[in-house]
Amino acid sequence: MAAARVLARGVRLGSYSIGRSRSLTFSGVQRRGIAACVDPSIGLTDEQKEFQKVAFDFAANEMAPHMAEWDQKEMFPVEAMRKAAQLGFGGIYVNPDVGGSGLSRLDTSIIFEALSTGCVSTTAYISIHNMCAWMIDTFGNNEQREKFCPDLCSMQKFASYCLTEPGSGSDAASLLTSAKLQGDHYILNGSKAFISGGGDTDVYVVMCRTGGKGPKGISCLVVEKGTPGLSFGKKEKKVGWNSQPTRAVIFEDCAVPVTNLLGAEGEGFNIAMKGLNGGRINIGELFHNFDLKPF
Ligand SMILES: Cc1cc2nc3c(=O)[nH]c(=O)nc-3n(C[C@H](O)[C@H](O)[C@H](O)COP(=O)(O)OP(=O)(O)OC[C@H]3O[C@@H](n4cnc5c(N)ncnc54)[C@H](O)[C@@H]3O)c2cc1C
Repeated sequence: MAAARVLARGVRLGSYSIGRSRSLTFSGVQRRGIAACVDPSIGLTDEQKEFQKVAFDFAANEMAPHMAEWDQKEMFPVEAMRKAAQLGFGGIYVNPDVGGSGLSRLDTSIIFEALSTGCVSTTAYISIHNMCAWMIDTFGNNEQREKFCPDLCSMQKFASYCLTEPGSGSDAASLLTSAKLQGDHYILNGSKAFISGGGDTDVYVVMCRTGGKGPKGISCLVVEKGTPGLSFGKKEKKVGWNSQPTRAVIFEDCAVPVTNLLGAEGEGFNIAMKGLNGGRINIGELFHNFDLKPF
């Protein structure tokens, strides 16, 4: 039965066929062991319970049955993610005027926690994609928001977050990828490591150095796939998490229009950390899923 769902703030999260073959009532009675005494909907508003259920249903019906195949065959499940986007999960905390669902960070956590019961790896990528869409929505000007966000929210296009480099992981402020202004373009040189979605995604939110050493010399540029000078390393071998590719992203005299600068020069590190403030919560939520999974 198709049930049109209108969720928080009047945002339609789409239509979804609710599976009848299994009960998704989280009364606690249906789950076993210690986890059975925790009802994941306790303390949630009616709206939150509603979209939590939509996410649990999606996880059970559209992700869990395919998770093993996605992992074994290293498939990036584009179509499944686009279905998730039809429910509003492509831009959960992005503003509605550019196609987002306009929900809060708490609402977002509830959704990712539920989605991860279907596939942690895919949900982790969706959370990174959401983070990138939010960064463009929040720090971009209207032109940038209108250019990138609608396609990201519908997941017609996919995004990657590019901070880590071969020589800078935890110490991200020491990154070396340079962006030199030349006319109306920045010329990027350097490389990023371990980029989720790298090579398969369309929009790269890249932290790069436009100024001196340290965090204040870092800016944030949106680089589109197909830009000359942008290339990718080989797919990394991983244990699990294979439904999202991980590759190096390489810039060799890659000319990016100045109109793709998010915020002002020197604001990139702040933008990157604000993105991660939400991103870290989202990733943390993915690992609660064992307690929540309906048996
Ligand atoms: C599957 C996967 C996907 C990823 N996706 C992305 C992505 O999409 N975008 C992106 O930008 N990055 C991504 N990363 C990179 C990830 O963010 C980095 O691996 C992380 O920041 C750590 O950096 P590092 O690997 O260089 O480790 P290091 O920084 O070298 O750290 C190694 C160890 O030393 C510890 N350590 C570091 N500094 C200190 C210190 N000062 N004091 C005490 N202990 C310390 C760390 O806690 C860690 O245990 C991904 C990584 C993986 C594995």
